[in-house]
Amino acid sequence: MNPPGNEAPLARFLADWALAQGLEAEVVELPDPRAPRGRAALVVRVRGRGTPGAVILLSHLDVVPAGDEGWEAPPFAGTRVGEAVVGRGALDAKGVTVTHLIAALRLAVRERPLARDLLVIAVPDEEKGGLGGAAALIEKRPDLVDGARYLLGEGGSISPGITGRRSLWAVGFTEKSPCWLDVRAKGLSGHGASGQRGTAVQRLLRALGRIQDLPFPVRVVPEVARTFRSLAPLAPEGDEGHWIDLRRSLSEDPDFRERFLAEPGQAARVRDTLAITRLRSGDGYNRLTDEAVAGLDLRLLPGGDCAATAARLREAIDDPAVTVEVHLAFESRSSPVETALMAAIEGAARKLDPGALVAPSLQLGWSDAHWFRARGVVAYGFVPRRLRPIDLRSIHGPGERLTIDNLVLGIEGTVSILEELDRDR
Ligand SMILES: [Zn+2]
Repeated sequence: MNPPGNEAPLARFLADWALAQGLEAEVVELPDPRAPRGRAALVVRVRGRGTPGAVILLSHLDVVPAGDEGWEAPPFAGTRVGEAVVGRGALDAKGVTVTHLIAALRLAVRERPLARDLLVIAVPDEEKGGLGGAAALIEKRPDLVDGARYLLGEGGSISPGITGRRSLWAVGFTEKSPCWLDVRAKGLSGHGASGQRGTAVQRLLRALGRIQDLPFPVRVVPEVARTFRSLAPLAPEGDEGHWIDLRRSLSEDPDFRERFLAEPGQAARVRDTLAITRLRSGDGYNRLTDEAVAGLDLRLLPGGDCAATAARLREAIDDPAVTVEVHLAFESRSSPVETALMAAIEGAARKLDPGALVAPSLQLGWSDAHWFRARGVVAYGFVPRRLRPIDLRSIHGPGERLTIDNLVLGIEGTVSILEELDRDR
């Protein structure tokens, strides 16, 4: 669970399993004072026939806390319940690590090795932003990423086809970037009965009132235009043409615009979003504290600028006693979509799920892929498993579970993609 992380024992456990299977495995220690029992990454290598440019299968070992309610089995026991394994991380992302490891084992025992080396990498600290995980690993072991060409990690999945429709293989090739801000108000402290005005809490509430409904303009960036063009065959009846040219349709057709923006998942792909996620001040009913802080989770479209967004909020708040500071921000990065890896995913889809639509997609959440994209690796968020809305809601929520069907599909799909990629050589 992160915080604190403490992923090293899991990395060692999985390395021991891999070694016992005859795989080449190492544990890369990534010391971090925030994780007292240790932070480490797992790296498993399956040697290829010498073609340069390894393929990385990336996942993470840390998970978010589980909460107490809504679990049919203890969240940290990995219990089999019926046709599923229940537990925090079943989908995000220990289940992905297991999927990758078994896929690697299957490929390692093939008679003819793959052309390229295959690296299964499972990092710590993804859920907290990756500075102690993927970023630290790349800094300590640049050889791992400099020798790599392609990467598959978490993010996209398969949406089951609704009656009469094709299923969708959504492959994340870019993502919105986080812009996490702290809004901090200062005021006078004192007794709760003092009748004091201009307290920190009052100033913070006023500031939040000024920004919570701030409009963010609709902006169809090229990556999103591309996503909806690919998705057009799955558009609602009559909207296919609109999705093919989303930018023009949103600006010229008010009825379509209203319809399109009414769906939050669609609206979030054409504008930045702001959510107030944390509030902190005081600990007694009768005490005014001198500081109140809110945490904001803004998600910016590719090309967005966190510092400029923070400046815009400062201007809207217009109060010298309130500051807005950046807590965490990354630039959004995209991978090209016309690649041998995308063709390999299409090949696997034809084999395993005939008629499925493979569409490069913008992901709303971010993963560790951007660290690798920044180093020139073609990185896609895609794990072949069918996730229904109820499964998607269980990620970071209660009742997370991985069905055995999805574990099997994940392994077979991943093996199939890597074999298709091998035809390229
Ligand atoms: Zn994850």
